[in-house]
Amino acid sequence: MVRLVSGRSPSDNGALLRGHGMNVTAPRLAVLRAVADHPHSTADDMYQVVRAELGAVSRQAVYDTLATLTDKGVLRRIQPAGSPARYDDRVGDNHHHLICRECNRMVDVDCAAGEVPCLTAADDSGYEIDEAEVTYWGRCPDCAARADHSNRQQPTTTTDQRKDPRV
Ligand SMILES: [Zn+2]
Ligand SMILES: [Zn+2]
Repeated sequence: MVRLVSGRSPSDNGALLRGHGMNVTAPRLAVLRAVADHPHSTADDMYQVVRAELGAVSRQAVYDTLATLTDKGVLRRIQPAGSPARYDDRVGDNHHHLICRECNRMVDVDCAAGEVPCLTAADDSGYEIDEAEVTYWGRCPDCAARADHSNRQQPTTTTDQRKDPRV
């Protein structure tokens, strides 16, 4: 699960923006850095990071910048059920995500088949499919370890059940 785009320098981000026909602006560069440093965060999280860096920037400006970068294909927006949208700078590789049901942590998992789209629809209804988005839901190692730990500390109810006169 190595992030392919990590370590991209600010000048690379400038080239990235120009390559998508966009002007290079301080808010766009700050948003790209925020997404690279905090992948899979929500727009609000990105706003906090960008504001800490730039100071004077409105929430709306950050949201608009995220939307523009997503429209242009520079960022990928992931919309898990029951969660605000998250943003990712790994685009175009059809990678998937693991999400913890308890703490909402999201991590990348490489595409199972390694090609786009990795799943073939049983019936494509004539659509030209170019992406298959897969979300694996479960419990992250930290939450699973915490749950195991608290289970061990709680007395089990087996003793009480044995005392039940109906047994
Ligand atoms: Zn978790
Ligand atoms: Zn991702």
